[in-house]
Amino acid sequence: MSPAPAKGSKAKKAAAVSHANNEFLESVNYYFDKAAATMNLSAGLLDQIRVCNSVYYMQFPVRIKGDIKVVQAWRAEHSHHKLPAKGGIRYALSVDQDEVQALAALMTYKCAVVDVPFGGGKGGIRIDPKAYTVEELERITRRYTVELIHKNFIGPSVDVPAPDYGTGPREMAWIADTYQAFATGEINALACVTGKPVGQGGVRGRTAATGRGLFFAVREAVNDPKLMKKLKMDVGFAGKRCIVQGFGNVGYHAAKFLAEGGATVIGVIEWDGAVVNPKGIDIEALNAHRNKKGSITGFAGAKTIKDGNSVLEHDCEILVPAALESQIHKGNASKIKAKIIAEGANGPITSDAEEILLKKGIFVMPDMYVNAGGVVVSYFEWLKNISHVRFGRMDKRFEEGSNIRLVETIESLTGKKLTGAEKNLIARGADEEDLVNSGLEDTMISSYKTIMDIYYNNPKVKDMRTAAFVSSIDKIAQSYLSLGIFP
Ligand code: NAD
Repeated sequence: MSPAPAKGSKAKKAAAVSHANNEFLESVNYYFDKAAATMNLSAGLLDQIRVCNSVYYMQFPVRIKGDIKVVQAWRAEHSHHKLPAKGGIRYALSVDQDEVQALAALMTYKCAVVDVPFGGGKGGIRIDPKAYTVEELERITRRYTVELIHKNFIGPSVDVPAPDYGTGPREMAWIADTYQAFATGEINALACVTGKPVGQGGVRGRTAATGRGLFFAVREAVNDPKLMKKLKMDVGFAGKRCIVQGFGNVGYHAAKFLAEGGATVIGVIEWDGAVVNPKGIDIEALNAHRNKKGSITGFAGAKTIKDGNSVLEHDCEILVPAALESQIHKGNASKIKAKIIAEGANGPITSDAEEILLKKGIFVMPDMYVNAGGVVVSYFEWLKNISHVRFGRMDKRFEEGSNIRLVETIESLTGKKLTGAEKNLIARGADEEDLVNSGLEDTMISSYKTIMDIYYNNPKVKDMRTAAFVSSIDKIAQSYLSLGIFP
């Protein structure tokens, strides 16, 4: 059944959202087709890679404030070429089938580009999470999970959700608990969802993973002499000014790591305004201000600008849209002055805007690579859950013992003694967070090399997004070609 039509200005808003989501889905398919046109694959195989395998649209009742609220929700599994399917769950009023399908498709391409052996999935509930109490959100989340269980759209080897816009570790813990209650005796039940709190089977480093991964991606780009020469910039972060849109999970961590890495974050944009300071913004102080006041605006360490989105057009070297999709569109693309755009959000640039940006010589680093850190670390969490042991638990002490023996041997051979602090620094074994961050760093570096190898060496490929799609489509195609299709 279709949702009841909205009236008046609500209807206009709903139509605009639906149009934007349709545009987002079309953009993803446009990028796919653009890359596919450079490849030598059969039309049928490309069709199978492109289409969404299954979508479950549901409406369910939840008791809210003494009445019944009918909630609309979706879960899409774009591809089953690898299982489980994997992708976040979004709580927002903008959620609809086009949006969920576009995001699920992106997940397929994203997993392939960073060698995470999952198909793409995505879920969404059409609610404004701010309009509900914690108890009401828990009821909605648990009921949604039950719907997914009934239709076999969740499970450690079937489909594994994660957080996205409007959801976080709290919701993931409710999902895990609900799933466990139904899957009695299922030893891997906790692996049914990732992004859980660490005490409930989560992995250290997951919360910061997407922003950290974005930092590694941009660091690879600014340390790439060939690219810097092409963009007429010096190698390294020094002197590079960044503007970040969205100061949520991805935006905050991206801004923090970029600043720590040596870049100067000169602007941060939120839905209710932006703050700018050409000398650089103290990210931790801004975060503390936001936590206290509920908004980044009015921060003493920068100037507040009411029309936040106008700051997207300010002069800078690196622009990081990390809020929502379709933020850079044909209406503002020609005014963007950044030299590099690193997509922290999913789909922040519409396809018609991208053509304008590329013509201007702006280097666009695509979402499917740049924000893949979240799914990479989700994969590590899933591995931890199915192996039932914390990373580093078996070998940390052994590694430390070996390192200490090595240091002591060198000391006795050279007759020189290290200080206790120096010894500790060398001897320290890797704990879970070290291993997770190291695995993430390695993935982002090796994927950059694979994508840029296509970008530099395939004459038909003119931009990084097309290169990333070519890399991804090729891996998925190989998977279908080598496995065949059942039956
Ligand atoms: P979040 O809810 O933590 O943060 C989003 C932030 O954007 C919020 O602070 C919100 O106030 C702000 N915002 C909303 N509308 C805005 C506007 N018009 N202008 C400026 N700011 C606005 O969400 P998140 O997890 O950081 O996700 C952000 C984007 O990154 C989404 O597109 C999501 O799909 C994508 N993403 C997230 C992850 C992850 O691990 N969290 C991984 C990959 C991709």
